[in-house]
Amino acid sequence: MKIFIATKNKKKLIELDRILTPMGFEVLCERDFDTEFEDVEETGTTFEENALIKARAGLKNTGLISVADDSGICIDYLDGAPGIFSARYAGEPCDDIKNNEKLLSELKGVPFEKRTGKYVSSIACVFPDGREFTVRGECYGHIATEPKGDGGFGYDPLFIGETGYFSLITPEEKDRLSHRGKSLKLFKEELKKYL
Ligand code: IMP
Repeated sequence: MKIFIATKNKKKLIELDRILTPMGFEVLCERDFDTEFEDVEETGTTFEENALIKARAGLKNTGLISVADDSGICIDYLDGAPGIFSARYAGEPCDDIKNNEKLLSELKGVPFEKRTGKYVSSIACVFPDGREFTVRGECYGHIATEPKGDGGFGYDPLFIGETGYFSLITPEEKDRLSHRGKSLKLFKEELKKYL
């Protein structure tokens, strides 16, 4: 059975492919089609809504079961910001270094025990017969006062999880602990119920 992954993000594609191919799916992405799909506007107010918007656009473009992820970081001291705006926190075009600098300046002087937050990953799956589901994975940590390491991406050089900076742990360790590792696991379990 064919399944379409609605993302332009290569890292997300690899992670989803790693789960879906062993389940027997033929995984397709945008580059498998002749036409270039229009960018979709993420107008939702939650991770789930934005993941659904991207997955529905994928279904409309391809007619195939479609999957999309929306993720970000939510900081308690900032009332959950940047949340769904994580990728473009410091403006567009998206820039990880500028985003991290902005987060550090917003948390300037805030003591370590109050620098708490979580990563969130929501995965949406939509079917040609109209069925839809979403799953969510979260992981909690602290925001450091300065960046460390060059592994991972995005806010990882500032994010101190259960076993340390996400920029310093192995990809396997990150898969085990991370929001996306958790949402992918739930996604796999949920998808089986729909087949
Ligand atoms: P999206 O592509 O619209 O879902 O935006 C996700 C954004 O959230 C990324 O650009 C990162 O800034 C942040 N983000 C999501 N997951 C991670 C992660 O695992 N590590 C670091 N940053 C992440």
